[in-house]
Amino acid sequence: PVIDDVPDLDGAREILRRTFGHADFRGRQAEVIAEVLAGRSAMAVLPTGGGKSVCYQIPAMMRSGLGLVVSPLIALMTDQVAGLQQSGVAAAKLDSTGEAWERAQTWERIERGELDLLYVSPEGLMQPWMLERLSRTPLALIAIDEAHCVSQWGHDFRPEYRMLGRLADIFPDVPRLAVTATADNRTREDIRAELRLEDSAEFVASFARPELSLSAERKRGPGHKRVLELVAARPDRSGVVYAGSRDGVDRLAEALRAEGVPALAYHAGLDKALRAERLESFLEADAAVMVATIAFGMGVDKPDVRFVIHADPPASIEAYWQEIGRAGRDGEPAEGITLYSAADMAWAYRRLDSRDVDDSVKQVQARKVRQLYAMLDGAACRAAAVRRYFGEEGVGPCGQCDLCLGEVETVDATRAAQMALSAVHRMGGRFGRGRLVDHLLGKTKDPSSFEAGLTTFGIGQELSAVAWRDLIDQLLFDGLLREDPNDGRPLIALGDADGVKAVYRGERQVSVRKAQEPEPRTRAR
Ligand code: ADP
Ligand code: ZN
Repeated sequence: PVIDDVPDLDGAREILRRTFGHADFRGRQAEVIAEVLAGRSAMAVLPTGGGKSVCYQIPAMMRSGLGLVVSPLIALMTDQVAGLQQSGVAAAKLDSTGEAWERAQTWERIERGELDLLYVSPEGLMQPWMLERLSRTPLALIAIDEAHCVSQWGHDFRPEYRMLGRLADIFPDVPRLAVTATADNRTREDIRAELRLEDSAEFVASFARPELSLSAERKRGPGHKRVLELVAARPDRSGVVYAGSRDGVDRLAEALRAEGVPALAYHAGLDKALRAERLESFLEADAAVMVATIAFGMGVDKPDVRFVIHADPPASIEAYWQEIGRAGRDGEPAEGITLYSAADMAWAYRRLDSRDVDDSVKQVQARKVRQLYAMLDGAACRAAAVRRYFGEEGVGPCGQCDLCLGEVETVDATRAAQMALSAVHRMGGRFGRGRLVDHLLGKTKDPSSFEAGLTTFGIGQELSAVAWRDLIDQLLFDGLLREDPNDGRPLIALGDADGVKAVYRGERQVSVRKAQEPEPRTRAR
């Protein structure tokens, strides 16, 4: 081993203290930095808020030459560059929004070797003239932020990221560092292949967020009532409520304000200035509730967010972790509460189906939907399920989610499940959920109808309509039933045939959960 190969971690720590004001490295930061300082490419998977930026900023400042940072969003670049400049770091960005004279000035600084960090978009970087000009500039490293954008298996695919694979050939001697917060095993493999990092070290930090208490419950009853209750039970705290549509956001924010909650609405349909203004008041408030679509998030760093409520479920486990990850950034206890329903799941599948992508991609995405609902509706620790999903090994239960705390009670419902499944079978999958429940209860407007003559008609009178609805949801989540779109008037049909058989034979049990309301937990640390 050459002595020069030993990276100067003391120097790196010094910069971390002096420039960034942090006492020491955390997680796997030091290892990642050591790898890049040694001139080797690497991939780092660190959770949101885990401190990915210093992993490339510090080596860029220490190695000679310019550090290039590829970032997908101009807003992110602007924030980072402003923050760096404030800390006295020579950083700039090149993007299409700037004035020509500004770009010329930036290039002068690059050519004089004055800059440590230059932020660029992938399509900006890969323009031939840009690459040509950079080939005459000594480079310290190339960081690829939000690297999961390169993967079709990820949740945020950007075709322009694909071009970045060529950097390996164009700059063979420059270490490349791919960083991301969200990557399951499959996506990680894909990132490595696409960005030509097959032989590079991979650093996966723990995704544990011990300050977060997670819970999830099925939606019950109409509209916003439950969300209002959950928010009202958490007064004088800041929180984020995610809703699935702009319209939902507006209505929810209004309903909250009507209850006296200082709620703000935020979505991409609002004008830019208004969004900026609301973001600012949220960041400054001691207690405010931001009701938002997922347009709200990237780059939002408010340390004292005490809860994140999903009024509608997230799109995937990646999205879930990222979105609830906005709570508890100060390390103090915080909550993530998710509301979901079988209808949301059916809608997610339907939306996927209508997407114009390869079947193989659809299959992967469908698996992501399944995995999300398996976690939400599951019976074992949520935090552990998520961490395993991200590829962490040897993960134990968190001890503080609703499932670990045993707040979800289940009761055996195998007999009722057999009734429901035979009813669906007899009815030939031609009816929706409402008709199915009526059928089980023996309700019909027309006693001479086909269904009234079936042996399953009225066999379920010992249960209430609500109980039957819950059971049907359970069977949908379990895959024993499925919902076929039928132009927005979904029909219920039998699902997994082997599973259904096993239930008929009594070889497989079906249990339903009794929902209970999670109350805010104030936990001593
Ligand atoms: P992300 O991984 O989400 O991109 P950032 O790089 O923006 O995270 O860092 C998240 C926060 O953690 C920032 O406020 C940053 O200053 C802080 N941070 C980064 N490294 C450390 C450290 N070693 N110790 C304490 N705080 C840190
Ligand atoms: Zn748990």
